[in-house]
Amino acid sequence: MDLLVDSSTIHLNQTQTTLFGVYDEVSKYNVQLNIAERLWAAWYLWMQNDTLATGILSFVMHEAVYYGRSLPWIIIGMIPYFDKWKIQNLKTPSLKEQAHCALVVLFSHFTVELPQIWFFHPVATWCGMDYGVPFPPMWKMAYQICIFFVMEDTWHYFAHRSLHYGPLYKAIHKLHHYYSAPFGLTAEYASPIEVMILGLGTIGSPAIWVYFTNDLHLFTMYAWIFLRLIQAVDAHSGYDFPWSLRHFLPFWAGADHHDLHHEKFIGNYASSFRWWDKILDTEATQEARKRRREKKLAEFQAKKKQ
Ligand SMILES: [Zn+2]
Ligand SMILES: [Zn+2]
Repeated sequence: MDLLVDSSTIHLNQTQTTLFGVYDEVSKYNVQLNIAERLWAAWYLWMQNDTLATGILSFVMHEAVYYGRSLPWIIIGMIPYFDKWKIQNLKTPSLKEQAHCALVVLFSHFTVELPQIWFFHPVATWCGMDYGVPFPPMWKMAYQICIFFVMEDTWHYFAHRSLHYGPLYKAIHKLHHYYSAPFGLTAEYASPIEVMILGLGTIGSPAIWVYFTNDLHLFTMYAWIFLRLIQAVDAHSGYDFPWSLRHFLPFWAGADHHDLHHEKFIGNYASSFRWWDKILDTEATQEARKRRREKKLAEFQAKKKQ
């Protein structure tokens, strides 16, 4: 087994055949590991195939987080009490619409994403990603994830803005804009090409990081993807609560930022933060649109006078 943990710290009894049997064995000889680390080591030791182990873990995690996070939004959509925080109050998706969306996304997960997931482990380890135990310290995971958020947001801004260029919009991005009032499940309702282009920011940011620093753990990568998925689903939720993160972190984009993008089709291209749209004057707010119109008008009038 080409694993993982320092082989001297894991003594696996070959008679252990169930995952929890392996877990017990790992626990017996590795009391210094926490529960998550023991489970992680047991999973890889039990699977006996690291590519398969990472592939299954990645796919299951994606499905669980995506649909698991969408579920509270479906329930919130059924409770009228929350309507006062709905961004586009008039447009409420029916359950049938939500079921259609969930099935389309599920189909693309199985047909487009699942085959690619098998390349993930070999490429990740080739880039230098670690997947042994113990896991890295929390502080390291936290700062690396912050860097990935900034990198992904930058990629997302420019790639997403490019996808709004006429022919690219028609051929690729139009599908994602099918819902002008998004709801949680619409986060990944997109063409497979779009999923690949924008997904590059999520997968590529840690890949570039580990290529140059040689310091990244697969568990950090999962924590990052977990948070990025939550961010994507929440940004499409259609609700802006007084306790939403953007009210505490003014540069955080949140649902109100992306909802406006779906409503107006132009502006607010970034995913997690507001700075790129501010710096490059592509905000979709009423004021920004008015300011741009006035600026254009002034330019036009100045041209006419020449
Ligand atoms: Zn768009
Ligand atoms: Zn969207």
